[in-house]
Amino acid sequence: VSEKLRNSGLLRTQGLIGGKWIDSYDKTTIKVNNPATGEIVADVACMGVRETNDAIASSYEAFQSWSRRTAGERSKVLRRWFDLLVAHKEELGQLITLEQGKPLKEAVGEVAYGASFIEYYAEEAKRVYGDIIPPNSSDRRLLVLKQPVGVVGAITPWNFPLAMITRKVGPALASGCTVVVKPSELTPLTALAAAELALQAGVPPGALNVVMGNAPEIGDALLSSPQVRKITFTGSTAVGKKLMAAAAPTVKKVSLELGGNAPSIIFDDADLDVAVKGTLAAKFRNSGQTCVCANRVLVQDGIYDKFAEAFSEAVQKLEVGDGFKEGTTQGPLINDAAIQKVDSFVQDAVSKGAKILLGGKKHSLGMTFYEPTVIRDVTSNMIMSKEEIFGPVAPLIRFKTEEDAIRIANDTIAGLAAYIFTNSVQRSWRVSEALEYGLVGVNEGIISTEVAPFGGVKQSGLGREGSKYGMDEYHEIKYICLGDM
Ligand code: ADP
Repeated sequence: VSEKLRNSGLLRTQGLIGGKWIDSYDKTTIKVNNPATGEIVADVACMGVRETNDAIASSYEAFQSWSRRTAGERSKVLRRWFDLLVAHKEELGQLITLEQGKPLKEAVGEVAYGASFIEYYAEEAKRVYGDIIPPNSSDRRLLVLKQPVGVVGAITPWNFPLAMITRKVGPALASGCTVVVKPSELTPLTALAAAELALQAGVPPGALNVVMGNAPEIGDALLSSPQVRKITFTGSTAVGKKLMAAAAPTVKKVSLELGGNAPSIIFDDADLDVAVKGTLAAKFRNSGQTCVCANRVLVQDGIYDKFAEAFSEAVQKLEVGDGFKEGTTQGPLINDAAIQKVDSFVQDAVSKGAKILLGGKKHSLGMTFYEPTVIRDVTSNMIMSKEEIFGPVAPLIRFKTEEDAIRIANDTIAGLAAYIFTNSVQRSWRVSEALEYGLVGVNEGIISTEVAPFGGVKQSGLGREGSKYGMDEYHEIKYICLGDM
């Protein structure tokens, strides 16, 4: 931890409840470690049901006044928060690298991306319009209002310690909702730093709370409370399904961003350099640990060998190392379980006949570093073509026709991101329409932005984040009928 970071006041280890930094009630803590070194970075408060219930109560109280402020007032607070996030992008970036492992440059990039949601929703706050509907009877006037849903529970993962929070909290606060955030126990420090800046920006006590520790306990408290009107979650499909079921008894609104199984489809008519560059970015960002990372690289017969060679050459240039080291492009995986999983998928593929072109094993740096890996001749009976790898392994799967590619791409319960590479305008349109996915990149591997809707179909989730559509998730629509007019 650098001196600057230590002195910044952003290194927080307590939870935030009702505007106060608080230890867990039984004084227990959990350790946060640096995945690149194994070093313990901090002990943070390990909270559970009681703290969560208090956080919900403070959020409920704060909602009464925050929701009644004008949109312009809320917008100004968010704008100040955005300015503070940007002003502290170096310290926040360091925290992200420290607890999550991604290269510092990528971490600072996440701060810019994460902050962009706060800026965008500071602007959007002022544009929540209702409607006046031509009445069904001349003595009536029909109006539609959009109102904030109420207290929101936001549960977020470790792969984007900042952006997954701001993408939820931005539109929630902009709409007039208040929030209890539960960050991942693996990466709470970034969340707490962002919350400290929110307080400095003028987010009132209770409008934003942060509790972390015992995830199932905190989850249960959020889900069983009738005061929490919405749950928004990003994480694994398995946990998302549990949360959705547990939201039923109190009929909460639910937004879910779950796992993907993204295909990157390279057609014979693609520009080879564009396909290599786009797939490289889509696959190896954050060492393959994003839900929109290319999980299967489908390559057409005629370009297969050329692509395999050019892609392997590009992957070979990636630099594995500590995220704080200049030049590193690939940090460690998040923990031992992740690296065991990735390695078992590789061994499964090899045992069923796939051939390793590059990598294929743990990196000599030890810890949770894995070699950037390219495997060819991967087929549908191998685990890595069905399940999310979440690591730096690119499986090349061969296909013959466009119909084959679409069929293979859609043969999954997931449906978040897909990428296609082709120089045919007609094909790009045809295939984009046929893909059962929420986002499609055409000749582009990095497509997430605050101005466009992000979200999946099938078992990849419910709802959208970012853009004007992301705002709708935090609104209730109220119809008012004025009679006897
Ligand atoms: P990942 O594979 O990204 O770690 P998880 O779904 O396990 O995905 O974690 C995402 C978030 O969900 C984290 O904040 C984690 O603590 C939380 N979580 C995990 N299990 C539960 C649960 N039973 N109830 C509520 N939250 C949970």
